[in-house]
This record gives sequence, structure tokens and C-alpha cells, in this order.
Amino acid sequence: MVNFIKTDTLKQKPTDESKLGFGRIFTDYMFTMRYSPEEGWHDAVVEPYHAFEMDPAAMVLHYGQTIFEGLKCYRREDGGLQLFRPRDNFARMNISAERLSIPQFDADLALEGLLKLLDVERDWVPHQKDTSLYIRPFIIATDPYVGVRASNSYIFCIILSPVGAYYAHGLSPVGIYVEDNYVRAVRGGFGFAKTAGNYAASLKAGEEAKKKGFDQVLWLDGVDRKYVEEVGSMNMMFVVDGVLKTPALNGSILAGITRDSILKLAEKDGIKTSEERIAIADIFAAADEGKLDEAFGTGTAAVVSPVGELCWEGRKITVSSGEIGPITAKMYNQLTDIQWGRAEDPFGWIMKL
Ligand SMILES: *Cc1c(COP(=O)(O)O)cnc(C)c1O
Repeated sequence: MVNFIKTDTLKQKPTDESKLGFGRIFTDYMFTMRYSPEEGWHDAVVEPYHAFEMDPAAMVLHYGQTIFEGLKCYRREDGGLQLFRPRDNFARMNISAERLSIPQFDADLALEGLLKLLDVERDWVPHQKDTSLYIRPFIIATDPYVGVRASNSYIFCIILSPVGAYYAHGLSPVGIYVEDNYVRAVRGGFGFAKTAGNYAASLKAGEEAKKKGFDQVLWLDGVDRKYVEEVGSMNMMFVVDGVLKTPALNGSILAGITRDSILKLAEKDGIKTSEERIAIADIFAAADEGKLDEAFGTGTAAVVSPVGELCWEGRKITVSSGEIGPITAKMYNQLTDIQWGRAEDPFGWIMKL
């Protein structure tokens, strides 16, 4: 059961949807539920958006026991709303929870909470093309305790943020620095979990890449420093000699829902796909032979991020002549058409609200 606490003081909704940006504006309500060993997950409620009151000793602040998800609510041209594979996000959140010793939650209850929140906030879903309402579920550990163990108490929360097109000037290729010093995650660690520590670990490399003039970092594996893992916080795909290749899920990368969706869309289109271990040297060799057709990142926020340039150990290569490749564009268009309800969904991915 999800309760509702109403407020009469509502925020001013953004009037210019072309200036939404990403993740800066939050809506009037949020969903929360709490966990204690005695009661399990309880007190599920849609309530006015407000600051948490937290003990300075709250365990999340010291030991990073926290996980999150990211998905979007889309407005169709007929004005109706829809979600894309929301059950997959909550299933993945429970996988992250398991790795971080956070108690499992009932995914049906979380989805019920999200639907109730969206029902109250439906007017916050923007209308302009490529805009959406970003949904951020997360869990934090709240025991006031300084000492390393799993917390006994937690808060599960969902907040909403109206967001603009990820690329203000349309889809445009980015320059990528292949990181050979820092690593993001290793097998046996928690690279497959959506947890704060992975992003904290990535900041320094991102800053250094920016100073060198690149937009994002491509991570190599933490053991051999040879194999492609991810790009920024997106999964990585290459088109080599007509085959769409992506690193296999190996425990140190995130199992992206966009990654999975694009693999399925490509297969349906008769494009050959392969999940495998990809050596960065082989990608540069393919570029030398003229066989590196395209490269792009995939994730919910940007959907698809074309790569125009790769730099590794001082060598720079240009991909797709710095343009958006045909498979990249096709995957972007097909996926966003399904997400925004402009095309049929043959996969059962869409949940209409
Ligand atoms: C969220 C995320 C992705 C993309 O996952 P989607 O489900 O496609 O949004 C990829 N890599 C990392 C590290 C992520 O955090």
C-alpha cells in the first residue's frame, strides 16, 4: 500500500522547455519507503519533496552504502505517458542491492510507488521533442554508526527531474580518451552495480581527459589494461567490418538496458552482433585497416553517444570521419521512436500509463 501526503504549495513549472538542462530541477513530490529489520520495507508514501534530516553519523555518508537507478517517463505525441522497461531497472537495482548488502525490496511495490508518484506529477513531464522526465530511484544506509558493517536501516526514495534533450544541438560525435592509468572497476569489485563509489572513482580521470581536450574517458579492464570496458557511464559499442560488437558482461561493467535494447534492435534488423572481449589494440588495428566503421556509447540519459575520435597511448584515430555513422543513427532513431511512442514496440518494452 502506497500512501499519499498532499501539499498545496507547488513549485513554478519551467516555462521554457528548451532550457531544462539535465538533473537540475526537481518536482513537487517524491516517493519514499523505509527499512528496519523488524518491519522490513514499510511506510511507502508519495509525499512532498523535502530535504532528508540525517544523522551526521549516517552510514551512507561514511561507507558509501548506496545504490541508484535511472530511467525516463516519455510523453507521446497524443499527450499520453509511457515508461521504457521499468521492471528491468528495479530488477537491476535489486542486483546492486545484493552486492552492497542492502536488503532486497519488492519490485512490484517500488513500481506501484513510481506509478503513483507519476500519476500525481504527470504535468511535470515536458512536451517538447526529445524532452522527458528523468526518474532517479535510490537507496541510502541510515544507521547512525561509525564502524564498518552493513546498516540495519535504509531509505528508498524516488525523485523526478524534467530534462531536456541531452545534446542541445542534436546528436554530435564526442572525443574519447582511452584511460591507461586509472581504472574504474575490477572483477570481484562492484563494477556491475549502480553504486556511488564507481562514479567517485571515475571523476579524476574525467577531469584529466577534459584538460587534454576530450569529452569522456574510455575505461580499460583493471587487470591487463587491454580490454574495453565502458565509456564514461555508458556501455561501449563498435561497428567493425559490419559487425556490431560490445564488451561481454564480465562482472566489472554495468548491464545497460540501452545496451541490451540496441543489441535486440540490431539483430531484428539483420545486423550481426557479438558480445565478446574486445582488445583496444584490435580496435586501433581495425581502424588502420579501414574496418572500424563506427563507435558509440549507450545509456538512458543520452540514448546513443557517437564517438568521433579516440586517443590511446598518444595515438589519435578518427571514427566515421568524425560524423555520425549510419548504424549509430539508425539505432538512435529506432530506439527513441519506440521510447517516445512514434513507432510500434515489437518487444513489449513499453508500459503505457
Ligand atoms: C547506468 C549506466 C550505464 C547505462 O545503463 P542504461 O540501463 O542503459 O541506462 C552504463 N554504464 C554505467 C557505469 C552506468 O552507470
